[in-house]
Amino acid sequence: MTTTTDRNTTGSAASNNPAISFQDEQVMGFGMSVGGPAKVVRPTSTEQLSEVFAQMRKGGGSVALRGAGCSYGDASTNNNGRVLDMTAMNRILSFDPQTGVAMCEPGVTVRDLWRRSIGSGYWPRVVSGTMAVTMGGAAAMNIHGKNNYALGSFGEGVRSFELMTPSGELVQCSREKEPELFHAAISGFGMLGCFTKLEIQTKRVNSGRLRVSGIVARDLEHNLEILEEMCGDADYLVSWLDLHAKGKSLGRGLMHRGDQMNPGEDPEGLRYCDPSLQDVPPNLFGVVPKSWLWPGMWCAVHMRQVALVNWLKFKAGFREEKHSPYLQTHGAFHFLLDYVPRWQWMTKPGGLIQFQPFVPKNEAARVLRTLIEMCQKGGHAPYLGVLKKHKPDPFLMTHAVDGYSMAMDIPVSKNKNRRESLWRLCQQMAEVVLDAGGRFYYAKDAVLLESSFARVHGEETTKQFRALKEKWDPERMLQTDLSRRMGV
Ligand SMILES: Cc1cc2nc3c(=O)[nH]c(=O)nc-3n(C[C@H](O)[C@H](O)[C@H](O)COP(=O)(O)OP(=O)(O)OC[C@H]3O[C@@H](n4cnc5c(N)ncnc54)[C@H](O)[C@@H]3O)c2cc1C
Repeated sequence: MTTTTDRNTTGSAASNNPAISFQDEQVMGFGMSVGGPAKVVRPTSTEQLSEVFAQMRKGGGSVALRGAGCSYGDASTNNNGRVLDMTAMNRILSFDPQTGVAMCEPGVTVRDLWRRSIGSGYWPRVVSGTMAVTMGGAAAMNIHGKNNYALGSFGEGVRSFELMTPSGELVQCSREKEPELFHAAISGFGMLGCFTKLEIQTKRVNSGRLRVSGIVARDLEHNLEILEEMCGDADYLVSWLDLHAKGKSLGRGLMHRGDQMNPGEDPEGLRYCDPSLQDVPPNLFGVVPKSWLWPGMWCAVHMRQVALVNWLKFKAGFREEKHSPYLQTHGAFHFLLDYVPRWQWMTKPGGLIQFQPFVPKNEAARVLRTLIEMCQKGGHAPYLGVLKKHKPDPFLMTHAVDGYSMAMDIPVSKNKNRRESLWRLCQQMAEVVLDAGGRFYYAKDAVLLESSFARVHGEETTKQFRALKEKWDPERMLQTDLSRRMGV
């Protein structure tokens, strides 16, 4: 495992150039439970990026590529090292309203993209639960949406990209040109080079709204049944899970199905192609700033009211089911979590981790049930659970399986023993998943052990990825806390 840190490289020439100087900052994962101090630089152009890489080659040491920092764990942190934050390269270089193809710099966010495309009747093919993520971060992690089982992963909508490798070379990649690098850099968690431009296909929509239904699922098996039953014709499926429910109700939840409108079906919905009507409103009931909500949520977490909140949410699901289907803007359907700014602060001071195993279909009911029981017995019941359906994709370091994922958000205690017991529990749960042929997703990981790397991807794939790292980054310039943890 490479353990170089940058403590010895401060004061390199890069720090002396005011245009590209590194600043001391605190760089944490989104969950605030991992990360630490780092020297951060934000290039605004390919030339500046090239200059930073040149300085790094000269001065030595490692640098972590970072987008918006929405990965929950340590995928874009570099504790006591250097961080190359790509958010200032954020121009949409072109958008073709006829084809829906956008050429983006890597710091363009999902929000920037849909704001540009929706007026022409296009929406990104794949979006995450927050619109803050960048194109570079989305491609490097090959993110998935609530339609993964149907449209596949983010990478499947990337037509081509330009990658700056640590040597400073700009490599043009597509399915035809440099196909090996194309399929490895997408999903390659920032290990092979830095995306400098991405050509992205968006998808046609016929309305600014979706038809949405809430469906109550009485237990885990019912949730899985609904996913199987509806995946043939639903555009989006995602289930919220009450992971505090036990016994016969274990794994109960509320499935949300979202369907696109057919042409002409929702003439009133065309008005919602105005970006200002898609955006998540900043106030609750038009009055209370949503940024004030997290302290209330903090009380629920710290006063042990999470089980009650989950129960209330489950009960409210029956009312929603009765009033389904209803119409909702794309923004409101996809970016529920953005409704409450800084919601993750409810887990302060310890923060949170997300544990998201991907389990093959035939093992799912058994494995997911076991994991929920392990969390409950271990005294670390997640405050939030989300179930999705997936299908495999063609990218080298894929996290997808023909099966399901269950994301579990778990608060982290400041107490050292309790924190360690959570890490141990997650590592035990990982064993159950890996034994069943499951995978993990590095955007959501903070706990996996180095020994899991080859088990997640298989010996052959691991060898191929290491060979690509050796070819494109022989000096190991690109590192993160995650990559060192996994021994890449
Ligand atoms: C509230 C919330 C909801 C989420 N929901 C989902 C979801 O539904 N589905 C899903 O798949 N994910 C989801 N995520 C995770 C998120 O989509 C991924 O972590 C994504 O990679 C974050 O993008 P980012 O721009 O913040 O990148 P970062 O988190 O900063 O970095 C992610 C990775 O990309 C690399 N990277 C960044 N920029 C570049 C670049 N220019 N070139 C090469 N590598 C680069 C980094 O080194 C790192 O490995 C969610 C996250 C949050 C906070």
